[in-house]
Amino acid sequence: MDLYEYQGKELFRGFGIPTSEGRVATTAAEARAAAEEIGGQVVVKAQVLTGGRGKAGGIKLADDPEDAERKAEEILGLDIRGHVVRRLWIEQASEIAKEYYLSVTFDRGAKKALFMLTTEGGVEIEEVAAQSPDALARLHVDPLEGFQPYQARRLIYGAGIDDPDEQKQILDIVGKLYRCFVETDAMLCEINPLIVTPDGEVRALDSKFTVDDNALYKHAEIAELRDLEAYPPEERAAREKGVTYVKLDGEVGILGNGAGLVMSTLDVIALAGGRPANFCDLGGGGDAQGVVDALEVITADPQVKSIFFNIFAGLTRCDEVARGILQALSQMSIEHPIVVRLDGTNAEEGREILSGAAPANLHVEPTMLEAARRAVELAA
Ligand code: GDP
Ligand code: MN
Repeated sequence: MDLYEYQGKELFRGFGIPTSEGRVATTAAEARAAAEEIGGQVVVKAQVLTGGRGKAGGIKLADDPEDAERKAEEILGLDIRGHVVRRLWIEQASEIAKEYYLSVTFDRGAKKALFMLTTEGGVEIEEVAAQSPDALARLHVDPLEGFQPYQARRLIYGAGIDDPDEQKQILDIVGKLYRCFVETDAMLCEINPLIVTPDGEVRALDSKFTVDDNALYKHAEIAELRDLEAYPPEERAAREKGVTYVKLDGEVGILGNGAGLVMSTLDVIALAGGRPANFCDLGGGGDAQGVVDALEVITADPQVKSIFFNIFAGLTRCDEVARGILQALSQMSIEHPIVVRLDGTNAEEGREILSGAAPANLHVEPTMLEAARRAVELAA
């Protein structure tokens, strides 16, 4: 789960990492009021779950409350790479002497947390890594050994930060960021830029924060931060119904039972010359409600032109799945052509049930490849 900048900063603050004072606003009038409360120059910042907002015109300095209102009007509603701005963060403006970059994430290969620090912050870290890899200091932290302050010193010297006052503050921030990362079950905590003000004060000016979805049950207060409106309707529906759903880019909607079968279904669609629009995993079952939920999610995606329903019945039975499909189709109206492949336990019976009673838009095919070809053909 990705957090908005201001949510990440709130967590940072909770762990003692210095940030600037600010307020959330959803209208231009609220932005003006926020700027009045904060006083002086403010930054009006688009809150969207994507980076590079500055370059896209989503971050603007404002001299006074009227100016903040104007800038808010310009930024609200802006489309930043498919993310429409509906929230703003109004923050006390900082004077910037230097922009650094600090992050901690997982290095899955090393099975350790990985810190990265560079004095070349502000820009995309990929650019720094590509153009001046030596400027990027890295440090692994062993999860059993835990974080040791001497390690942070190595990171800071490695990045070439030589001002003792900065070293001290960054050392402190690195330690706190590690605690924040571990205790929130984060997968990424990134501060870009980590600024140094002209007075030598170090502060987090931005946050990119991703928390492990699988750990959210331990963090109710973080789970609550999820902004459902930021998700496309079918992803919202999938979340609400507890359907495993992944959005892709093609035209064929895919429904299967079991992750392995679904993965091979994606391959066979590609083999047949098509592209999957998305996929739903029904898991072990194939009961009517599960099928209804999955079909509702899949058909809410406007890119779907046909649906490939691929079932291999091991623990479930094809006749049961077939009844589930019919019951589901009687409960909802679907215009899309649906191609069904049933195999495994009671496959014959299942196919008979379907071909006897199925509506005209439902096609039964005997093999996975034939079904994939048909689904691709019908999507064209
Ligand atoms: P991003 O573009 O999505 O990464 O958004 P950031 O929050 O990192 O802001 C982008 C850039 O805007 C920063 O790198 C800064 O150069 C600039 N910026 C953001 N806040 C301030 C501020 O308070 N004062 C000044 N002078 N510049 C700021
Ligand atoms: Mn940034």
